[in-house]
Amino acid sequence: MWRDPATGFSRMTIDLARHPLTRWTGPLGLADFGSLSDADFMPVFDAALAAHAAEIDAIASDPETPTIRNTLVALELSGEPLARVSAIFWCLAGAHTNGAIQAVEREISPKMSRHYSAISMNPALFARIDALYSGRDRLALDGETLRVLEKTWKGFVRSGARLDPAGKERLAAISAELAGLGTTFGQNVLADERDWAHFLDEADLAGLPAFVVSSMAEAATLRGKEGRYAITLSRSIYEPFTTFSERRDLREIAWRAFTMRGQNGGATDNTGVVAKMLALRAEKAKLLGYASYAALKLDDTMAKTPGAVHALLDPVWERARARAAADQDEMQALAAETGSNDRLAAWDWRFWQERLRAQKFAFDEAELKPYLPLDRVIEAAFDVATRLFGITFAEKHGITAWHPDVRTFEVFGHDGDRVATFLGDYFARPSKRSGAWMSSLRSGYRLGEGSQPVIYNVMNFAKPAEGEAALLSVDEARTLFHEFGHALHGMLTDVTWPSVSGTAVSRDFVELPSQLYEHWFTVPAILEKHARHHETGQPMPKALIDKMLAARTFGQGFATVEFTASALMDMAFHARPDAPADPIAFEAETLAKLSMPDTIAMRHRTPHFGHVFSGDGYSAGYYSYMWSEVLDADAFQAFEETGDFFDPATAARLKEHIYSAGGSADPEALYRAFRGRMPSPEAMMEKRGLA
Ligand SMILES: [Zn+2]
Repeated sequence: MWRDPATGFSRMTIDLARHPLTRWTGPLGLADFGSLSDADFMPVFDAALAAHAAEIDAIASDPETPTIRNTLVALELSGEPLARVSAIFWCLAGAHTNGAIQAVEREISPKMSRHYSAISMNPALFARIDALYSGRDRLALDGETLRVLEKTWKGFVRSGARLDPAGKERLAAISAELAGLGTTFGQNVLADERDWAHFLDEADLAGLPAFVVSSMAEAATLRGKEGRYAITLSRSIYEPFTTFSERRDLREIAWRAFTMRGQNGGATDNTGVVAKMLALRAEKAKLLGYASYAALKLDDTMAKTPGAVHALLDPVWERARARAAADQDEMQALAAETGSNDRLAAWDWRFWQERLRAQKFAFDEAELKPYLPLDRVIEAAFDVATRLFGITFAEKHGITAWHPDVRTFEVFGHDGDRVATFLGDYFARPSKRSGAWMSSLRSGYRLGEGSQPVIYNVMNFAKPAEGEAALLSVDEARTLFHEFGHALHGMLTDVTWPSVSGTAVSRDFVELPSQLYEHWFTVPAILEKHARHHETGQPMPKALIDKMLAARTFGQGFATVEFTASALMDMAFHARPDAPADPIAFEAETLAKLSMPDTIAMRHRTPHFGHVFSGDGYSAGYYSYMWSEVLDADAFQAFEETGDFFDPATAARLKEHIYSAGGSADPEALYRAFRGRMPSPEAMMEKRGLA
């Protein structure tokens, strides 16, 4: 017992070997969620962090010569209680949060980052890893172990473990300054978005559908202008407004404000912030021995070099511009037919594109929903996994996970043994953040006593009234397939080492299993069997399916140009050894060199390119969205080439080299093993209608 000096309350010290957050005693190896208390998170985190730090100390100060067992294995298996409490905590923080959990979140995030940076800066620990790495050729390691050793070593090096004390100090200062600047960048964009609004009256709303009008009315009310309508710079108002408003003058006002976010002078202008960040990133790369920041960031990806990224983006750019130019001619003609002789401008594109879409592909999404009941779509996703990979699913009733809506499934392999547990949390509720995601409570690996994967998907579908069926839109059904693809990556994993389990792969590879899986949603055998009317059981009419599929390539010239321009700009900024003094001037020069059409704006201009400057997430990495799309289109083509969407030999290779391989080998090698060659962007361009 100890007495908390602040509160005077006494509490039991935490016994990590018995506490329900760290020792899970529920069915199927799950935690006993009913016995957990939010008040326990912080003390258990503190105890688990201390226990992990002690394990790390023991490894680092081991008097024995470093071996794989006493160093790498020990490091990988350390921190088990911390992994368990973290898994539950982050699950709740996303899917079922409350004020107490949010308070812990604010406290634990900086503690975690201090904890892990102390580990990566531990010189005695690095010395042991470095000794193993230097002698790796004499250790006769299997491929996966060698890769884990290399990844671990590189992780330390990239954190600055090899720098002299002055270098370490400089690196820490750069990282701290970059973190601060990233926060400032994001807050400046937010401030510009928050402070700008353009108020309209009833008479200004021509062309706007009811859903846009009602969000604009709400936005005006929020700004104290009840009874009026606000154009704001949130994408959810800006995009539909410029798509539907018949008022060209207002579209122009909105477009100009939207594209100038972060570049309005004064305290919220990001020009100087970007210049400083680019200079610090270039300095960091140089300090760590890389030719550019892009070279540093791409080092452990599938693409590996800026050259490989350009080999993908450059041909796509040419085709997308050609397609956009053809679309522009078609829109200009449509405008002329309706009596408008204005030359199409950037604020007109979405508007005329929508008119063209309505003319060519008009159909009501709502007609499809009755054919996509949630339970049938779940069945369809399971059915595809059974056909491709031979696994089956059985719902286990009577288990309450973190919320009564969560459904639990046992997953069985060929031989009938359980291979994984899958949980699906499908409905929106106020305690859940928006979006859809996959994560794990346990990852799968063989090291030590081994661990079976426990994987979950979280969605935000509208919960139907009691007794009614939950019906999905096409997008929602596709999202379910997407996240289930990630889930399979976690569930089918067949690796030894925890750090390369499941989705622990590079950023430009991780979306392959998920985006690829989406393709099977629209395979005829699956739609015919599962997309059935929730009342009549009738299959979805063929005419509806055809319209849904035909509409997919529409507008891709515009979408590809606006995306690729941003991806190319990201590379231009980061693939050079130094930093441009004036990033806005550099942006203009780069766009001129690329012959950017003046009728399309970049999806994200530099002063508000949050993916790249609001933190480090997608810097020199914005291309990876398209890279993944290249991979999924090319990989699905492997099935199309056989004439069988479930071709057993192709599926077996897909399982062995992609879904079950995790990060156990270089992603390029994995892809080659599956496909027999590197991917080409042709299939992706075909899918986007750019071929
Ligand atoms: Zn994804």
